[in-house]
Amino acid sequence: FALTGCSSERGGGDTGTGGSDEAAVGFAADATIGVALPDKTSENWVLAGKLFEDGLAEAGFQADVQYAPASNTVAEQQNQIQAMVTNGAKVIIIGAKDGKQLATQVQAAKDAGATVIAYDRLIENTDAVDYYAAFDNFKVGNLQGQALLDGLAERAGHEAPYNIELFSGSPDDANSAVFFDGAMEVLQPKIDDGTLNVVSGQTEIAQTATEGWLAENAQNRMDTILTGSYSGDTVIDGVLSPNDTLARAIITSVQQAGKPVPVVTGQDSEVESVKSIMEGVQYSTINKDTSLLVAQAIKMAQQLQKGEEVEVNDTESYDNGVKVVPAYLLDPVIVTKENAAEAYENVPSLLEIVKSYE
Ligand code: BGC
Repeated sequence: FALTGCSSERGGGDTGTGGSDEAAVGFAADATIGVALPDKTSENWVLAGKLFEDGLAEAGFQADVQYAPASNTVAEQQNQIQAMVTNGAKVIIIGAKDGKQLATQVQAAKDAGATVIAYDRLIENTDAVDYYAAFDNFKVGNLQGQALLDGLAERAGHEAPYNIELFSGSPDDANSAVFFDGAMEVLQPKIDDGTLNVVSGQTEIAQTATEGWLAENAQNRMDTILTGSYSGDTVIDGVLSPNDTLARAIITSVQQAGKPVPVVTGQDSEVESVKSIMEGVQYSTINKDTSLLVAQAIKMAQQLQKGEEVEVNDTESYDNGVKVVPAYLLDPVIVTKENAAEAYENVPSLLEIVKSYE
């Protein structure tokens, strides 16, 4: 089964078609597939690990699923990927902790004849990443920006201008800028025309970042902004939050300051946020059904195993600095209280929560 002759063709021409530079090499049906996940800061990562274990086993593969621990995460993820290469994994699926710091490891994977799939987060500055499987991150941002505007119109209780603040994710995650840019495509014109007033004045992504995607960092920043820019009875009408973990931290901060809860966006459909939305507190989240994304990554592994062309649907959007990584993008869905039952139609555990509020 060890056909390796084609791997040298890789990189032979960036023609923009997804499978063009892929080594069309099958491998053993019970080969090891490595999965390196970043951490457990969001529910989606915890769930992904379980789904990969089960789904890869069901597909007949040996699954080697690893998480980077909370401390020294980048180095540990580098070691885990290197170990997967050494142990002969044929495909390595990576949810990067820091997508800029894996070039050496993915090159080692490539050199060993393994295929590298970036999962959910892009791996940057290397031509050794073969594919990308993710939800459409720019669209996630667009939906968040639009939800903030819709929520303000619905809930602010007054006409524009609206006082808002902006939060973005961790700077070491390539997604953070894409979410933010997607949201700002919608929000910037409204800032420019005076509909939205970012009272702190912090509109640059570097000012809005949340190191490590950690709730405490978002909460501290919100505390500081409230103290500095929302004294007295100045109301904060809305907050762009890039995900649910941070949304809840932001809401906690505002509540502790004794102010009315603003319109706050989110992402990931975490259980506590779905409950909060149904209770009318958090305004929105995004449904990125983790089971669909895991299934897509496993499908890529199966196509590689059979020596088939890997199916992609986007060959333009994800330039990692060295190449445009052929991607399979899934469609994110905005969720508010109003459409929750419909949005979670195919997610039984969340649908049950929604129904319990009806
Ligand atoms: C994921 C989000 C998640 C965030 C923090 C991002 O890369 O796309 O779904 O909320 O990381 O874990």
